[in-house]
This record gives sequence, C-alpha cells and structure tokens, in this order.
Amino acid sequence: MKKNLVIAIDGYSSCGKSTLAKALAKKLGFIYVDSGAMYRAVTLYFLRNHIDVSNDTQVEDALQHIELNFHSRDYESHITLNGEEVSEEIRLMPVSENVSEVSAHRIVRHEMVKQQQRMGRSKNIVMDGRDIGTTVFPHAPVKFFMTADPKIRAERRFKELESKGNNETTLEEVFENLAHRDYADTTRKESPLVRADDAIILDNTDLTQEEQLTFALYHVEPFLVQ
Ligand code: C5P
Repeated sequence: MKKNLVIAIDGYSSCGKSTLAKALAKKLGFIYVDSGAMYRAVTLYFLRNHIDVSNDTQVEDALQHIELNFHSRDYESHITLNGEEVSEEIRLMPVSENVSEVSAHRIVRHEMVKQQQRMGRSKNIVMDGRDIGTTVFPHAPVKFFMTADPKIRAERRFKELESKGNNETTLEEVFENLAHRDYADTTRKESPLVRADDAIILDNTDLTQEEQLTFALYHVEPFLVQ
C-alpha cells in the first residue's frame, strides 16, 4: 500500500462528512481526524475564557494555552481540551453559534492547519473539514466534496441533537445555524470552503450511508494497491 495516504473530505455543515469519514477509516484501518472538532474546541475555550476574537494578542496568547488531543474509541472521535473530554459540549448551540467567527480568524487557522498537517505526515488518515483538500492537504490523492439538500441536513442534525437529549433547540434554529455557517464558511477571507478542482462531488441527499461508503471506496481503492 502507498505509504501515508491522506483522504480529504470537505463540504457544507452537517452533510454527513464525519459519518462517511468514520466509515472509511474503519473499513481501511485509517485514523479519522475531525478537523471541525478542533475549531469547536478552540471556540469553547474562547467562550469560557471570554477571549475577544477581534483582539489578535488575546487570540495568540489563548492559543498557547490550548492543548488538543484526539482519542479514538471504536472510530468515534473524542477530543480533549487541556485534558478535559469536551466531545459532547462542543456540539451544543453556544459553540455552533460562535465557531464560524473563531474559525475565520487567520491566527487560529494558521495554528490548526499546522497541527493538522503534522497529523497527516506519517500516518494514513481520513480528515474531514472545510479546507482539507484545498489548504491542509492540497496534494491529497483522494478528495471528496460533500453536499446535500439544506433541509435534509437540518433534519439530520436536529435528530442527532434530539437523540443526545438536547430538546432546547428547534429545527428552525438548526436550519438557521447551518445556513449562517455555510455562508460564513464560503465567504470568509481565510481559506474559504470551496471545492478543490480535483475533488469528487458527493451529493448524498438521496443516498444511504452504505451507498456513500461504496461510492467512496470505489474512488479510494486504486490508491490502496500502489
Ligand atoms: O465540521 P463542523 O461542522 O463540526 O465544523 C464546525 C465549524 O468549524 C465549521 O462551521 C467551520 O466554521 C469550521 N471549520 C473550518 N475548517 C475546517 C473544519 C471546520 O473552518 N477544516
């Protein structure tokens, strides 16, 4: 197998990137890295510590006090922020409502991209996010760009929140949040969400998880035998 294969998955908010990435990682025995969780954990730290995102000095200083680590259990990605497990908390609305602003920050992105590139240097990984195929690993041999109908995406995320016992957020709020994040992610100055020219489009509006995995494996397999 080709050494050190990176599979990059980008796309809009809540269109099933992490579900596909986890399934691929499990099937191939690769490491799954959820880059969004990193931006979310930084956002949580900023919220807790009242970091003013418009103040570069504060942002720079805060980043020096943040240590993020991934722990994989059954291909579920768990992230710790300075040793504390925050995987659940980073999915809640306070973080979702602020993450786009934090992730648009040049200094934050610079630091996260550096850490992400380090993770892909010596290991086979599947990484999902917004700029993986364009900025983090522009030379990744396999790139997917995922999309789905916005209403379907909101319903999926709403059900996911509900299943975790979060009944405070309405479907409309989830829809608005996704629309806001899509807009912010695609229009920001620093590495906006855009399809890499060589990324394979995967619209999963009408596809089952099994069908998406089959589609992705079909495109990945040629690189496994090299
Ligand atoms: O993937 P997820 O929806 O958890 O990502 C949360 C947010 O983190 C996105 O809305 C986006 O603002 C930011 N993000 C990013 N670049 C990445 C991954 C996520 O800007 N590679």
